[in-house]
Amino acid sequence: MRCPFCGNADTQVKDSRPAEENAAIRRRRYCPGCGGRFTTYERVQLRDLVVVKTNGRREDFDRDKLSRSIRIAMQKRPVEPERIDQLISGIVRRLESMGETDIPSKVIGEIVMETLARIDNVAYVRFASVYKNFQDAGDFDKFVSELRPPDLDKA
Ligand SMILES: [Zn+2]
Repeated sequence: MRCPFCGNADTQVKDSRPAEENAAIRRRRYCPGCGGRFTTYERVQLRDLVVVKTNGRREDFDRDKLSRSIRIAMQKRPVEPERIDQLISGIVRRLESMGETDIPSKVIGEIVMETLARIDNVAYVRFASVYKNFQDAGDFDKFVSELRPPDLDKA
């Protein structure tokens, strides 16, 4: 695994342990090149998903992007990081088990909102209010960049 800090291709695994109730393996890695430390997760991927945007464009489903948007919505909420990981895995598992490889971005947004609504109301409102504005545009990158907790805007 390449070092995300310096690009060194030769990094070492310092520690491996089960995570997310044995659905994943978490590895702590060390880069001898720059001394950087980072974490990787190994997970089962049942199928390769493709996101179909409202404008018809297709792109590979990116778990990290989904995860980023959910973590931003969850910022400073009293929810354990481990619980958030489980929640994201649950969403991905649902998408993978829908029986289709192509998934409309709208469906993903709705599943995320439905899930957040059950876990944390504030996170749900944050996500939903931004999501509505971008439903038509279907631009997930723009969506993620707009999605910030209100208290960070003041800083
Ligand atoms: Zn490095």
